Amino acid sequence: METIKKTDWVHLKDYRVYLVINTIGYVGVAVHLVLIPLFYWLNLDLLALFNVFSSVMWISAWLLNRRGRHQAAIILMIVEVILHTLLVVPVVGWHSGFQYYLFAAVPTIPFTLFHHKLEGYAIVLISIVMCVLFILLNAYTHDENYTGTLSASFGAVINIINIIISFTALCVVSYYFRNASLSLEKELEKQAHTDPLTGLFNRRRMRSYLEQRGSVSSRNRSTFSVVFVDIDYFKQFNDTYGHHCGDFILGAAAEFMKKHLRKEDAIARWGGEEFLIVLPDTDIRHARLIAEKLRSAIAEERFHLGGQEFRITMTFGLSEYNFDHSIEDCLKLADMALYKGKEAGRNTVMG
Ligand code: GH3
Ligand code: MG
Ligand code: MG
Repeated sequence: METIKKTDWVHLKDYRVYLVINTIGYVGVAVHLVLIPLFYWLNLDLLALFNVFSSVMWISAWLLNRRGRHQAAIILMIVEVILHTLLVVPVVGWHSGFQYYLFAAVPTIPFTLFHHKLEGYAIVLISIVMCVLFILLNAYTHDENYTGTLSASFGAVINIINIIISFTALCVVSYYFRNASLSLEKELEKQAHTDPLTGLFNRRRMRSYLEQRGSVSSRNRSTFSVVFVDIDYFKQFNDTYGHHCGDFILGAAAEFMKKHLRKEDAIARWGGEEFLIVLPDTDIRHARLIAEKLRSAIAEERFHLGGQEFRITMTFGLSEYNFDHSIEDCLKLADMALYKGKEAGRNTVMG
C-alpha cells in the first residue's frame, strides 16, 4: 500500500482528496490531449480547438490541486466535463458515447470523496450496478436515425473507446481513493499514539498498553515489571549545549534503549526526559539485571552530533506488577524508586 508522502503544499487531512484529484487530473489531461489531434483528423476543428481550451482547464485544475486548492480544482473539473459533453455530443451524436464522461464524472466525485468507508463487497456490488447502468445507457442512446458528423461504424468504435476510458477512470479513481483512505487512517492512528520527537509510544498509548497488560497478568497470574528512566541533569545539559542538542539526545537515547531491549518489551516517552519501560513476564530480580545492563551501556555510550561528543547518564526506578494492586500503585512505586535513585546520587538502578 502506498504510504503518505509528506509535501509542503498538502495538509495531511486533505491528502486523500489531493490524491484522488491528482489521479483524475492525470487521466483528464491525457484524454483531452489525445482528443485534440483526433478531432482535428476528423475535421472537427471547432471541437479540436475546444479541447485545447479543455486541456488548459484540466492542467489548471491539476495545478490548483497541487497547491492545496482542492475544492476549486473539483469545481473546474466538473464545469469542464459538463461543458465538454454539452458541446461534443450534439456535434458527433449520442452514439459516439461522449456522454459517458458526464456519467463517469458525476458519480465519481461524491462516490470517492464521501463513501470511502464502504466494505469490499459493497464496492463490488456498486461496480456491478455501474456496469449494468452503462450497458443500459448504451442501449438507450443507440441512435438509429443518426444525424451526427461521424460515420456510424467509426462512431461505434469511438463509443467503445469512450466506454473503456470513462469506466476505467471510474475504477482507477475509486481504487486510489480507497487506498489513500486506508493509508491515511493508518497514519492518523500511528500519529495518535506516537511521540513525534522519539517515535516511541506516547503516554496515552502506554496507558492503554498497561491496562491490557494488567488484564493479561491478572488472568494468567503472570507478572511484569515497570521501569521509570530519567536522564540525569538534563536541564544542565540543555543549558550547556542548547535545546536542539537536548532534542537530539532524547531521540538518540530512545533509539539506544529500544535497540537494547527485547522485542516483547514496550517503551514510551512518559514526559519531558522521562521514559517508561514495561518488561512483560519479568519479575523484579530479572528486571534489575536488565535495567543495570541498560544503565551501564548508556553511561559508556558516546553520542555524536555536529562533530561534538556527548555522554549522559540515567537513573532507573523499578517495580513489579502485583495483581492484587492497581497499575497506578505499581507506577507510584516505580516513581518513588526513581526519586530515591536521584537522591542517592543518580546513574543508578533502584527498586
Ligand atoms: P534530574 O537529574 O534530577 O532529573 O535533573 P534534570 O535537570 O534532568 O531534571 P529537571 O526536571 O530539573 O529538568 C528537566 C529538563 O528537561 C528541563 C527541560 O528543559 C528538559 N526537557 C524536557 N522536555 C524536553 C524536550 O522535549 N527537549 C529538550 N531539549 N529538553 C527537554
Ligand atoms: Mg532528569
Ligand atoms: Mg524529569
